[in-house]
Amino acid sequence: MAGSERTITMSTHTSGEWRLHPSYGENEVGRVFDQYGVPGWEYLDVPIAAGETLIGCASARRAPNPGWPRVTDWEECRANARLMIAAPVMLAALESLVHADDPLCKCPACKVGKPAIAKARGENDKGERHE
Ligand SMILES: [Zn+2]
Repeated sequence: MAGSERTITMSTHTSGEWRLHPSYGENEVGRVFDQYGVPGWEYLDVPIAAGETLIGCASARRAPNPGWPRVTDWEECRANARLMIAAPVMLAALESLVHADDPLCKCPACKVGKPAIAKARGENDKGERHE
């Protein structure tokens, strides 16, 4: 349809080993104080890198009024970061397990792996990319 067509750029995630960014220290819980020195809120940001390049961050906040629901548990935040770091390896593992050449295969690996791969690629169940 003219006017509704658009070019979809296929892209992939940042290459390289994903890991904690070199700036991260294990117990870097930050504290923000008000103008009188009264503790206001605490935060943890766990930066994730591909090589030296910052690509993301898991975050948690403990604040009286955080604005929207937040992770408040530091260990949960660190676990979220570990899951993000493992994502490219898990994606590659799934891609090696599924039968990509057989779109109708319903073996256990394909049944759970293909939807997960599609989700990681930003595709629907028909292999069409969505925003
Ligand atoms: Zn299969």
